[in-house]
Amino acid sequence: MVDFGFGLVPSSRINLDLFDKDKYRELVKIEPDARICMACGSCTAVCTAGKFVHTSLREAIEDILNAKNDKALESLQACQLCGKCSMVCPRGINTRHLILSINKVYSAK
Ligand code: SF4
Ligand code: SF4
Repeated sequence: MVDFGFGLVPSSRINLDLFDKDKYRELVKIEPDARICMACGSCTAVCTAGKFVHTSLREAIEDILNAKNDKALESLQACQLCGKCSMVCPRGINTRHLILSINKVYSAK
């Protein structure tokens, strides 16, 4: 093989079918709007708590989608439920209610 002086980067493709999606399924059952989030990050950009400590609803939803269940609540720990993010969501998601539902799903045994 010809040596071009560089190698191929290993594939970062992930097989979502191998992930345990139970928490995500539970969430969309009580909060169907979780499915329409397009990960635009508008909620994160205006987050009141995010100015002081890492807070991101977008990241929390992505973590749940990717079954990173141990990380899912980390991004919402400082949320003050002020509802500011719901005013900018282009999908019209009641983000405050969504955050409460995420907390509910992860506090249930
Ligand atoms: S409700 Fe929570 S996530 Fe949304 S803007 Fe307020 S502090 Fe940030
Ligand atoms: S603003 Fe709405 S659509 Fe955009 S990432 Fe946040 S919840 Fe999802």
